[in-house]
Amino acid sequence: MNLASWVERNGRRLRSEPAIAEGTQVHATWGAFAARVAAIAGGLYGDLGLAAGDRVAIVMRNRPEYLEAQYAAWHAGLVTVPVNARLHRDEIAYILDHSGAKVVVTDEEHAVDVVPLMDSVEALQTAVQAPGPEWDRLAEAAAIPLVDRAPDDAAWLFYTSGTTGRPKGATLTHGNLLMASLSYFADIDQVESTDSVLHAAPLSHGSGLYGLPHVARGAVSVMPGSSAVDGAELLAMLRRWPGMSFFAAPIMVKRLAGDAALAGADLSELKTIIYGGAPMYLADLEEALAVFGPRLAQIYGQGETPMTITALSRTDHAHRDHPRWRDRLQSVGFPRTDVEVRAVDPEGVEVPTGEVGEVVVRGGVVMAGYWDQPDETAETLRDGWLHTGDLGSFDDDGYLTLRDRSKDLIISGGMNIYPREVEEALLRHPAVAAAAVVGRPDPEWGEAVVAFVVAAGGDTPSPDELGRTCTEHIARFKRPKEYHFVAALPTNNYGKVLKRELRDRL
Ligand code: AMP
Repeated sequence: MNLASWVERNGRRLRSEPAIAEGTQVHATWGAFAARVAAIAGGLYGDLGLAAGDRVAIVMRNRPEYLEAQYAAWHAGLVTVPVNARLHRDEIAYILDHSGAKVVVTDEEHAVDVVPLMDSVEALQTAVQAPGPEWDRLAEAAAIPLVDRAPDDAAWLFYTSGTTGRPKGATLTHGNLLMASLSYFADIDQVESTDSVLHAAPLSHGSGLYGLPHVARGAVSVMPGSSAVDGAELLAMLRRWPGMSFFAAPIMVKRLAGDAALAGADLSELKTIIYGGAPMYLADLEEALAVFGPRLAQIYGQGETPMTITALSRTDHAHRDHPRWRDRLQSVGFPRTDVEVRAVDPEGVEVPTGEVGEVVVRGGVVMAGYWDQPDETAETLRDGWLHTGDLGSFDDDGYLTLRDRSKDLIISGGMNIYPREVEEALLRHPAVAAAAVVGRPDPEWGEAVVAFVVAAGGDTPSPDELGRTCTEHIARFKRPKEYHFVAALPTNNYGKVLKRELRDRL
């Protein structure tokens, strides 16, 4: 089944109902959205000469044209590559090149970085700015019928950063994304066409994935006016778009819970806040529950099994009388309906209840593999199980608690930062001999990036200089917030840097 069939169907059934909104304004009805999707699909096929299976990258902020690009590409049987628009130009270039994207759809803000990549990215033939005249020209093409897709056909290449320094494209098929959407209805929430979903987080990641079940059911997709929705804006949108749900990183939930505009406000039209992607501290969660009531659901997932490993339901959050209520709030919940989840030892044998093992997942939602990376795929998908790299343990009731991340991923402000990338950037400075980057718990950001640097003799470089070197090569948000200059890094017998020891020093 082609995921774009949802749009086509809603275009008939809900013709005059709102499909996409910008703030409190209707941007398009389902009838108009479906017509544009079928026409742009025709434009991608006819004018741009793409064929089923070709990749179309999307580098733009959340806006109505994002959904047009996503669904038009699917309608035409193409594979989308949604790229985090906050990445550095070089990182975007790598993803466009690796995915072999022939077309990139971008917006005014990102065109300066993206359009010049036409010269360096080999497969890239066209960069289209949307909204804009070229995008409108594509939308004037003759509509084409929906291109048939099988469950195993790729739909979305979801690029995660790799610990090896190279991002990996989790190949999510139409079948994977259908399963993730059905599993939302099974474990998180029901959705009606009178409901709405607010895209307060990037469409290239969690928010885009949670948008799918809402499009399936004909709810309104709402693009906020600002990139950091505050309490007042949320209230205005709740009044206009009832039955609202949204995905948010824990840090955003915390920020909203502390927003004075929401204290005592009427939140009756707020349905569900889905949070996840990083740990949420208990104190913050209790505060959020006090403000939002039992409208919070936690999910634990990763790009490789799109947002679907375990969930802590709204009911679990509300169940204060349960003797283990607080323990459960600190867990990531219960395995989702459509997957098997285990904690295993290094040999892949399930560990007893209460013991920590690597979390592995099996089910129809698990990615087909990494795009064009057979070695990484074989390492991650073993014996039919996805190895998440996360360490956790199950309790007697079957709730999973994450203990640590076996990968040294830093999650700061809801964004994933892999130390290796930052270290590689620092090492480009001639005065840096060695660098190790770790995360320090931070009340505001979840974790803050901290660098330990060994100077290459002579003068020690200043933090400002190192910051500048970083922003030349990686996204701004990945820069270390703190530097420690040391004579040597602690290493083990194999010469590997002991990051745990560095964390302990902090
Ligand atoms: P990504 O693929 O970018 O979504 O990152 C996935 C990783 O984020 C997981 O492997 C976990 O390490 C972490 N993560 C996701 N959800 C949660 C959660 N609810 N609690 C703690 N960590 C999480």
